[in-house]
This record gives sequence, structure tokens and C-alpha cells, in this order.
Amino acid sequence: MVYAQIVTEISIKSLDRIFTYEVPQAFAQQVKIGSIVEIPFGAGNRMIKGYVVEMTDTIDFDPAKVKQISKVFDQVSYEKELIELASWMKVRYNCTMPTALKTLLPTQPNVNKKTDEFIASLLAEAQLLNMIETLDGKKKFQARVRVLEVLLRRPYIKKSVLIESASVSQSVLKTMMRDNIIKSAKEDHYRTPYDVDDYDVTENLLANNEQQEAIHRINRSIDDEESNVYLLHGITGSGKTEVYLQAVQNVLEQGKSAIILIPEIGLTPLMVKRFVERFGDVVGVMHSRLSAGEKFDQWRLAKEGQIKIMVGPRSAIFTPFEHIGLIIIDEEHEMTYKSEMPPKYHAREVAVYRGHQHKCPVVLGSATPLVESFYKAQNGTYQLITLSERAAAVTDTEVSTVDMRQELAGGNTSMFSRPLFNAINEALEKKEQIILFLNQRGYAKFVSCRQCGHVIKCDHCDVPYHYHKFKNQLLCHYCNKQMPMVNACPNCGSEHIREFGVGTQKVQDMLTKTFKRARVLRMDYDSTTGKHGHEKVLSAFERHEADILLGTQMVAKGHHFDNVTLVGVLAADMSLYTNDFRASERTFQLLTQVIGRSGRSHKAGKAIIQTYSPDHYSVQCSMNQDYERFYESEIIYRKLMGYPPFKHIMLMMFTSTDERYIIKLSNNMKQRLMKYEVAGKLELLGPAPATLSKVNDIYRQLIYVKSDAYKALTSLTHYIYKEMQEEDTQKKGSLMIDINPMMSY
Ligand code: ADP
Ligand code: ZN
Ligand code: ZN
Repeated sequence: MVYAQIVTEISIKSLDRIFTYEVPQAFAQQVKIGSIVEIPFGAGNRMIKGYVVEMTDTIDFDPAKVKQISKVFDQVSYEKELIELASWMKVRYNCTMPTALKTLLPTQPNVNKKTDEFIASLLAEAQLLNMIETLDGKKKFQARVRVLEVLLRRPYIKKSVLIESASVSQSVLKTMMRDNIIKSAKEDHYRTPYDVDDYDVTENLLANNEQQEAIHRINRSIDDEESNVYLLHGITGSGKTEVYLQAVQNVLEQGKSAIILIPEIGLTPLMVKRFVERFGDVVGVMHSRLSAGEKFDQWRLAKEGQIKIMVGPRSAIFTPFEHIGLIIIDEEHEMTYKSEMPPKYHAREVAVYRGHQHKCPVVLGSATPLVESFYKAQNGTYQLITLSERAAAVTDTEVSTVDMRQELAGGNTSMFSRPLFNAINEALEKKEQIILFLNQRGYAKFVSCRQCGHVIKCDHCDVPYHYHKFKNQLLCHYCNKQMPMVNACPNCGSEHIREFGVGTQKVQDMLTKTFKRARVLRMDYDSTTGKHGHEKVLSAFERHEADILLGTQMVAKGHHFDNVTLVGVLAADMSLYTNDFRASERTFQLLTQVIGRSGRSHKAGKAIIQTYSPDHYSVQCSMNQDYERFYESEIIYRKLMGYPPFKHIMLMMFTSTDERYIIKLSNNMKQRLMKYEVAGKLELLGPAPATLSKVNDIYRQLIYVKSDAYKALTSLTHYIYKEMQEEDTQKKGSLMIDINPMMSY
């Protein structure tokens, strides 16, 4: 007898264990580790899915009690290596095995192969040309000529595409078949999300010295099968992508495959383009907006080895390649690499794990690495590679700051400083374009002095107080300390104290009032809903349908507009004083990125940063694109306050529709957890309301736990859930845990 050890699809902690089933003779060939099967489960023998994680031929209990597998899904299965990865994720991210396993598959096991009808030309190119010439101008044959013209470009084409591009009817194709010009072919079709024919072909560029050194070091690890992690720190435009491309070429020559991660779907087309232009149709794409069929095909092609390079956002890290030779994470500092849904995995951590499994290097690329990553590069956990020069000559951008305190002193109370106002008018005059950036995150409202720029912060946490208008109180969202709103600045005594927090919509109103001639496009979360929301706004701006593009961080990324000569940052402080220990880092990243949007072509560029804190190191260092200096300041702050990379932070978010209940529950939980706060190992902070203290009428309370040891936190979660079960007697609360959060709550 053969038995399969099975994890069910039911994601409940109490059922997260292994169940034994008998493999019937009929399935003996098919069932193996990684198979997905259907099994009768529980007393009622309900049919559910199960995942085979182990095979045995003996069991130590009554074989008569063992049920049988009833069906095998043969389209989809897991590699043994991915089962191992799921087990690792289960421990690392404290999730159930089914949740981990489901995360690894982009597709349902019952998606079907699709057959498509194709049309093939029976004539060679010369014959096609000949026929077009003969028939051209003859009214009766116009439809036929259109088909021939399409076939000239693509002699083998999907029938539906042909009908659409030539705008002809089925009957035209029928007569052409009868005349032996084309034939139809049904085939097992692989759905590809892009069309190779739309791309040019590029050759390797001649790498400069720094690039050569980078490529050489990465290639050596690929050749020697070393699972090193490289931090490729290269300023914007230093040619990181060229390094990726040439290293990937080496991977392909070794007969292996590569995964390239990008921070968000919106950036997929750019990266896909650069890889397809170099390597053609061995490039695959994987992201959540593909249809189920497309995902399935990309996944299958990767598994079968027809796709060798997979490009996509974080979930592409699970691509089932047989031999991975290199994993690249571009813009590694982006918070999108961490999943918001359980399991809250970080793609970088999974990449490093897979790198060990496959004995291949991982390359983390960024102009502004995450402080945690740079710290690892400093202490030797990662290998640092630096690209310090721009690869292609681009005009330099002249960066300046405007001290908004002085603007106020000079009598200017508008949100546009005089230098920015003048620069906008100048650019409008020259018919050049402008990007205005409002780096507002979330609903952060902090209180600052307009005279001296002083921000009122909590002594214990060094994060700004959040202003609650309703109670006229200041509140720390980390430790919950409260105090009455101040009437005068504790620093300079001025009464010009005010709460900060302006939305893009309000700025848009102000812009159209101030610059009457200007056409303004707004790009933020609200104006880019829908599948192509992003692209629509961006391409309209590209076509110069607007003079000013106003937006949040979305405008800061990736795109190149030749005609943009001015970038304005309206209030650099806004992201500086969110209730988040990463605030300075985010500000530095955003400012560095947005400054890079100006002067991408031959026209000289300008960037103007309006700020109340012109001396803050985030602002200063971004002006000079000086990452090292930023890092040196930031790491001191992190060390002093015990934030990552020095300590791990676990966030617990308690939610309920009942405010009083959740406040009481989180307080009681804190009391219960005190006993685990063993001698300096764990530190508890809070409870305090979340920054977004109420969402959709659900109240949110946070407790933070800090520790030197990641494991101490994951093992604590186990107890937390137990305590929660006892405490939440009315079952009105719920609990979410995020270890080393990347976003603020
Ligand atoms: P990054 O990703 O570091 O911001 P890119 O890879 O986008 O930089 O490169 C910026 C520009 O420089 C691109 O247009 C690229 O084609 C060009 N480039 C990169 N490497 C070289 C090189 N060795 N020689 C000439 N141009 C290069
Ligand atoms: Zn505090
Ligand atoms: Zn002041």
C-alpha cells in the first residue's frame, strides 16, 4: 500500500496538520509529493482539496480507517522545493500551511488549457507582396489585400487578431482558404500577455568600469553557485538595468533561469520591454491583473522551461523554475515587497531563501537602499556593489530649497513660494511641463510652528503628535501619551501654530486659481481607479494635454517625460512628520526620486523643494543625492530609539466596531502580555489608537512589541492568540499581527 500525507485546503490553525490517505492503484503513477488531490474529509466525507507533502508505505494505525484519495488534479502540482518553501513560510510568517501553499500558486488547479484557432499563410513573403501588388486598387479585393498586408508582417497569427487587425469578416478568410492562400490551424495555445513583435531588438551596451566590475562579481557567483546577496547601490541613471541584463545573459548561457521583481504592476511594461528587447520570447510576465488563463500559462511555461526569465511584482518570486541562476529585486527599498495579506511575507526574505535552495545569488538594486539593507551591506551580510556615476549623459538638475518660514515672514501665506511661483510661470511661458509633488501619506496630521518650523513630538517615541481636533488634544500613536493642544510654540513662543495636512484636491483648486492658463492633471489614489487609470493619466501628460501634473508618490516613479523641466515639492515636511519611524527614510527616498524626474532630456532641469525644515538631513541629503550621509544620520537615530535594524518590531492591531470594548480589550491584553516581557527581551508599547483610528466604523488599537530576536516575536504570537481567545469573551474583537511592518497603520 502507498499512503500520502496530506495537508488540507482548510486554513484553520487547529486543522493545520497532516492527514493520511491511501493512494488507490489507479492513481499510483500520478500521486507524488506536491500533487493536489481531492479527498473525503471529516465525518460527513465532504469533498475538499488536499496537498500531498509526504509519501510513505507504512502507517502505524489501523489501515481500515484510512480513507482514499478520490481524484488527482493533474494540471497543477508543486515542486518538492516549493513544499519546503511553504513549510519555511509557515514558521517564519506564522501562517497555516494551506495559506502558505495557496500563496505559492498563481492559479487554481482546475484551469483548463485553451485551444485557439490560428491562421497560417501558405505563401512566402515574395508571393504575398506579388499578390498585394496585383490586387491593390481593385475594389472587390480590398478586404483580401488588408489580410495579406497583415500576413506580411505576421505570417502566423491568431484568427481573432487577424480578423480584428484587418477588419474583415469570417467569410473573407473562408474564401482565402478555399483559394489555398491561408490555412487554419487549431493549437494548444499559450496565452501570452504581450506581443514580441511589438518590440525592437537591443544588443549589450559597452559597460563602463563600474558596471563591468558589478557584472563580473555577480557572474562569478552565478558560475560558482554561491548564494550571495548583493546590494547594488546605484544612483538614478547609473545603468543598474544594464547590469541586470548582462548578468541574466550569463544565467541563460548556463541553461538556467532568472526572476526579476519590480515594486508594482504599473512598472511591469517598462521592465518587460527592456528584457524582451534583449532576450525575446523567453521572457514571461506574472501579476495579479492577468486573467486566470494567462497566469496558468505563464506558470506552466516557466515550469516546462519555455520561459526563462520571469518579470513581475512580489508574487513572481514563487515562479516554479527548475534551476534558478539569479534573482533580482529592483527598487528593493519599496514597501510593496512586503505582502499586506497573510502570510505577510517579504519578497526579499523569500528571495534569499530561494537563493539558498538554488545556490544562486540575489541582487538587490536601489538608488536609495532600505536602511536595514545598507546596514547588512556594512556588516558583511550582504556584498555591496556601488555605481556612482550616471551611465548616459543627462543634463544635471539644479536643486534648491525654499524655506517656507521665511516666505511667511515675507508676507506670503499661499502654498506657493515666490521662487516656485516664478519658476512655474517661466516653464508655462516656454511651453515646458511641470510636475508638482505632494508627498502626503495617509491621513497624517501633525502640528508645527509656522514661525520656526518646530514640530511637536512625543518625548518617548520621537514621532510627532497627532492632532485630534475633536478633543483639541495631542496624542502619540506609538505610546498613547496625551496632552492638551498647545497655544504657543514650545520652541520660539510664536502663536502661529497649526495643524498640517492638505489634500491634492485642495492644491488642484489653488493651482487653477493661481495659474489661470495652466491645464492641470491630478494623479492620486482617487483619480487613478480602474485597470488603466495610471497609464491614462500618464499618457495624457506625455501627449502634453496638460501643463502641470500634480500628484502623490505615484508621479515620482519610473516614468520619463522629456518635456518636464520643473519639479516642485510642495511640502517636503509632510512625509517627514508622519507617525512612523520610517518617515525620514521615506522622505529621503521620495525626494531623491522626484528630483530625478526633472531634466531627463537635453533641456536643463530644475527642482524646487518647499519646506519648513530645510536643514533636516532627509532634505539636505536628497538635494545632493548623498545616500551615505543620509544613512549615517539615520542609523544613529535608529540605534538610539531601538528601531530596525537594531530591534525587530511586532505590531498588533486590535479591531472592533465597539470602541470602548476594543480599548478595554487591548489594555487587558497588554496586562496579560506583561508576563512575557522577560528581563529586557521584549518591550511592550501602547496600546494606542492607530493613525487611522477608525476605518469604516471599525476602531483600531495598536500595541507594539520590540525585541532583539525575531524568533522571540514569532514564538510570542503563539501565546498572543491564546490569550486573545481567553480575553475576547464576547468575540467582538479581532487581531492582526505584522512583524517588521513596512507600512504604518
Ligand atoms: P538605472 O536603472 O540605474 O536608473 P538605467 O539602467 O535605466 O539606470 O540606465 C539609464 C540610461 O543609461 C538608460 O538609457 C541606459 O540605456 C543608459 N545606459 C546604461 N548603461 C550604459 C552604458 N554602459 N553605456 C551607455 N548607456 C548606458
Ligand atoms: Zn510616544
Ligand atoms: Zn516656533
